[in-house]
Amino acid sequence: MYDNSNIFAKILRKELESEFVSENEHCVVIKDKYPDAPIHNLVLPRGDYVDFRDFCSRASEVEKVAFVDAIGQELNKIDGGAKVLMNIGKDGGQFVFHLHAHVLGGFPKKG
Ligand code: AMP
Repeated sequence: MYDNSNIFAKILRKELESEFVSENEHCVVIKDKYPDAPIHNLVLPRGDYVDFRDFCSRASEVEKVAFVDAIGQELNKIDGGAKVLMNIGKDGGQFVFHLHAHVLGGFPKKG
């Protein structure tokens, strides 16, 4: 199911260059190469998970806590409104089949 030739697997193995924001034992945060917002980072678990459904069924509790925590840390850096998005499956708009959460922010203030 998991194809380790996907772009993010190559980035995690450092075979492809990417702009790293942070990393720890369980997760890596990179900048999205084609950002949809002034801030657009991607939180990737290091483990081989296709999508969030796969992650929920197979990841350890430690990996789950680490993933949520990494998303929270990205949100803490953003002032004001933000979005967290995970596309799941081709029909759900997923393009790269290694789990990643999009964290977007820096939107113009409203009101
Ligand atoms: P998704 O559609 O949820 O699979 O999102 C894949 C994301 O990866 C898109 O937002 C792309 O802009 C982004 N992307 C594609 N190639 C790269 C890359 N080499 N480095 C960083 N982000 C990338």
